[in-house]
Amino acid sequence: MSEEKSYDYDLVVIGGGSGGMATARRAAEYGAKVALIEKGALGGTCVNVGCVPKKVMYNAALHVEMMHTLKDYGFNSEFKHFNWNHLKTKRDNLVKNLNEVYEKNLKKANITRITGIACFVDNHKLQVNNSFYTTKKIVIATGSRPRVPTNIEGSGLGITSDGFFELDCLPKKSVIVGAGYIGVELAGILSLLGSKTYMSIRHASILRTFDELLQSVAMEELEKNGVNFLRNSHVTRVAKSTDGTLVVDLSYKNEALRLSDVDVLIWAIGRDPNTEDLQLSKVHVDLTSTGHIKVNAYQETSASNIYALGDVCGIFQLTPVAIAAGRLLAERLYNNKPYAKFEYKNVPTVIFTHPPLGSVGVSEEETIREYGNEHIKIYQSRFTPLFNAITNKKTQSAIKLICYGKSEKVIGLHIVGSGVDEMLQGFAVAIKMGATKADFDACCAIHPTSSEEIVTMR
Ligand code: FAD
Ligand code: NDP
Repeated sequence: MSEEKSYDYDLVVIGGGSGGMATARRAAEYGAKVALIEKGALGGTCVNVGCVPKKVMYNAALHVEMMHTLKDYGFNSEFKHFNWNHLKTKRDNLVKNLNEVYEKNLKKANITRITGIACFVDNHKLQVNNSFYTTKKIVIATGSRPRVPTNIEGSGLGITSDGFFELDCLPKKSVIVGAGYIGVELAGILSLLGSKTYMSIRHASILRTFDELLQSVAMEELEKNGVNFLRNSHVTRVAKSTDGTLVVDLSYKNEALRLSDVDVLIWAIGRDPNTEDLQLSKVHVDLTSTGHIKVNAYQETSASNIYALGDVCGIFQLTPVAIAAGRLLAERLYNNKPYAKFEYKNVPTVIFTHPPLGSVGVSEEETIREYGNEHIKIYQSRFTPLFNAITNKKTQSAIKLICYGKSEKVIGLHIVGSGVDEMLQGFAVAIKMGATKADFDACCAIHPTSSEEIVTMR
């Protein structure tokens, strides 16, 4: 009879961010002896330099949007002074508070917190500083970090989203490089708060992985909010002037362009997985061609007792995805649910720009690529919401509903406009349940709202 080997822990989780915390807590709930290794502050990217502080800044910019409409609504107050430091202090305190809540949650769950950088010794042994820990299973949830180009002279003079949250005043002039989530969100915030904002994008459009409708309306609206797009451009050199500001040289439509007196240059060109400290070669965990950890549908890596989830796997780099994948893995490993796994489909997502954008399911381009034109019906509308009917600034809303087959099953919903960040969740439930256009039509509208447009499309 073989005897089960004994380990210090049933499970060690590497990374105390969204995915790691969720996995550790759910596993401990089912009686597993768990340790969590984190090298920095608990909460990871989302709490410290991501979703949470970003949403605070988004909300600050939302106030500016509202202030622009005060006069239209009969108020005579003027937007006079914005105290960046006041907001930063409150934001930083919120983050600190959350760090403490996370510490308490670990204690409450009887999870051992180990501080430091983890690396593999073998499949069942990890090293942190000079200590060693043995464990039956390991979950890698080490997340990702912002990418900075290495082939551009002076690129190190720029900052990333991490540095954005350290700024102690509003930059007068900002250059953002990148056309994805972070670039678009920071451009909206900085521009509305009053920074002269440039976005250097490599192609003609932003958010190219999203439906074309979202791309075009987002660009128009960001331009209305003061963002200057440098389409088909790339940075060639960054230098520091004697007064401390930056000089940013670009190739813009194949011509040279120089931007001077730039207070911040923000690289928002994607994120790289945190794998380099782990010494993965010791345990034969395979990586993808992009350097992310390769996992199957059950978050299993190529090493039998080692799992990975969240940003380090590079599939839907979103907090709720990391959390759900972690919880479901724990359900499978410690709660006798052998088929529990996260379904990486119909994942709703919102880009918190001004106005926000929401998307669930496939884009029109993806649909045509996958199914051809034949069995697809697209419903589309663009309108000025009632809120803006009496304002000078006509912030637009737009909706695209993509339906498939005879039953017109809804397989994609793409929305842009004020409030869509709160509208999308409910529709995502319906789409996940397999709703058809007829189900949408049969749902009584709520009037007057922008949401009603989604259930009254013709
Ligand atoms: P992380 O949260 O990054 O956690 C990984 C942890 O592992 C980190 O704390 C790190 O210190 C630690 N670590 C790494 N290596 C080691 C090691 N060797 N030893 C010990 N510890 C280690 N998502 C949304 O859903 N909505 C949003 O609005 C949103 N906004 C964002 C805004 C910004 C600016 C950014 C950058 C991201 C945003 N995201 C958002 C994405 C979201 O933050 C990530 O998808 C999420 O945090 C991923 O969770 P994770 O657990 O995989 O990794
Ligand atoms: P993204 O992948 O969203 O976008 C980066 C974009 O930058 C690319 O799409 C690409 O666009 C462009 N790019 C890439 N390389 C270069 C380069 N060398 N020079 C110029 N442009 C380049 O990454 P982000 O860093 O914006 O965000 C990382 C992830 O974090 C997101 O994918 C998202 O999952 C998550 N996140 C989620 C948020 C939310 O849920 N609201 C908010 C913020 C982040 P192109 O090919 O068009 O040039």
